[in-house]
Amino acid sequence: MDVQGAGATRPYDAGMGEPRRVAIVGAGPSGIFAAQSLLGHPGIAVDLYDRLPTPYGLLRYGVAPDHTSIKGVGEALARVFESPDVRFLGLVEFGKDVTRKELLGAYDAVIYAAGAAEDAEMAVPGENLPGSDSARSFVAWYSGHPDATPFRLTGVRSVVTVGVGNVAVDVSRILCKTASELTPTDMPDPVLNELRGHVARDVWIVGRRGPQHASFTTPELRELLTLPHVQPVVHDALDEIDLTTLERRPRANVEAMKIAAERSVPDASLRLHLLFWHRPIEVEGRHRVAGITLERTALDDEGHLIGTGEERTIQCELVLRAIGYRGRALDGVPFDEVRGIIPNTVGRVTDARGRVQRREYAVGWIKRGPTGVIGTNKSDAAETVAALVADLADQPPHVLEPVEKMLRRKGLRPTWYEDWMRIDAAEAALGGRYGRARTKIASWSDLLDIARGRGPARRPTSRDL
Ligand code: NAP
Repeated sequence: MDVQGAGATRPYDAGMGEPRRVAIVGAGPSGIFAAQSLLGHPGIAVDLYDRLPTPYGLLRYGVAPDHTSIKGVGEALARVFESPDVRFLGLVEFGKDVTRKELLGAYDAVIYAAGAAEDAEMAVPGENLPGSDSARSFVAWYSGHPDATPFRLTGVRSVVTVGVGNVAVDVSRILCKTASELTPTDMPDPVLNELRGHVARDVWIVGRRGPQHASFTTPELRELLTLPHVQPVVHDALDEIDLTTLERRPRANVEAMKIAAERSVPDASLRLHLLFWHRPIEVEGRHRVAGITLERTALDDEGHLIGTGEERTIQCELVLRAIGYRGRALDGVPFDEVRGIIPNTVGRVTDARGRVQRREYAVGWIKRGPTGVIGTNKSDAAETVAALVADLADQPPHVLEPVEKMLRRKGLRPTWYEDWMRIDAAEAALGGRYGRARTKIASWSDLLDIARGRGPARRPTSRDL
């Protein structure tokens, strides 16, 4: 096994004696922010594990490809890997390739940064019909995730997105954008081709409560409502909302919707509908989605959401549910099934009775639930790392199995940051052929070939563009 091979990995900087070793499970933004925060403390070496050969998690596979300024955060995160005290170990899956016990046997501390891997469900009949999917699957597909199932948009004329948060905004915006607006993104070529050819004319966003309760952030909402060639249609009476009772963000959201409701776009190629006070009660269709039936809702005297019994069906060929994510339990690690997180106190993992599990920590969405923007994970990670560093100072070093020995014993051949750099370079080269900054490589076999140094990415053919 090539753990110490030329250019494959770096041994830790041993200049200060044996460093304390920390494993981070998940190399997405929260894991990398945790590594960055740990680097502020001398004498700590960090290994970031990921099941993919690519670091950056949701930054690579969640942030919309047309939001390039957020992607710039990637440049800041990449600097963390310049440290000789940080390593990236790809293609190692927690629970499958390494267990909790093995990591605790090889590291002074383990930080879980596994994100929120599950989707909330609508729990309505027809939810699993072909053509009814989670927004996560759609995002994974257009972001070039190697596990994504391709979407076919042929014949899709109307799309209904359920949920009124930023994920709903992202997927709707991607559907509303024109081919030329999407071309500069890093989407894989087959995705770009599918999106270029789609004929959807109506995109609906449906909220179960009112416009003032939507969890959109206002700049994202405004961007969506001002897309050229898109006619916004607001189906609710916004004037009935008392703006003076609202906090800043909901007020700004409602104001943005009011402006959009007045907008006339004569050359529009697509209508974007905002429909509030409706909840899904059934996804219609025999063999695949043909529509969605919604029930009108209201709030009762105590502020609880109730159905009014008034129903309407929207004809559509694609339903995307953007109603939130949930964490997934990690093998052997305490898990709060109700909240979908690892129970913790300021990042220290606790069991169901609140007892701290020594040497185990959590950061990001698996720590606090799927809320906040990427930057939220920075302060979140700093809080956990402060707890970890305080605990390390109180503990004598453990007798640990050398990491390389543990990997060898398990027969694991991780990929390293240098291997990711080859994927990175191959994507830049692929994009460069057609004047794009990057074209994502979405196939497992291509990613593995490049990461393992078995050859360049497939050359694009004329069918690709
Ligand atoms: P979210 O903001 O929590 O929105 C979820 C939406 O789903 C809410 O409108 C919620 O309504 C609705 N919902 C939940 N269960 C439902 C059900 N059974 N039926 C109908 N509607 C239901 O979650 P998200 O959009 O998935 O975003 C997750 C996080 O990522 C957020 O913090 C978001 O800001 C962030 N994000 C940020 C960006 C960006 O900055 N550009 C992009 C994407 C995501 P209720 O309020 O009534 O529960």
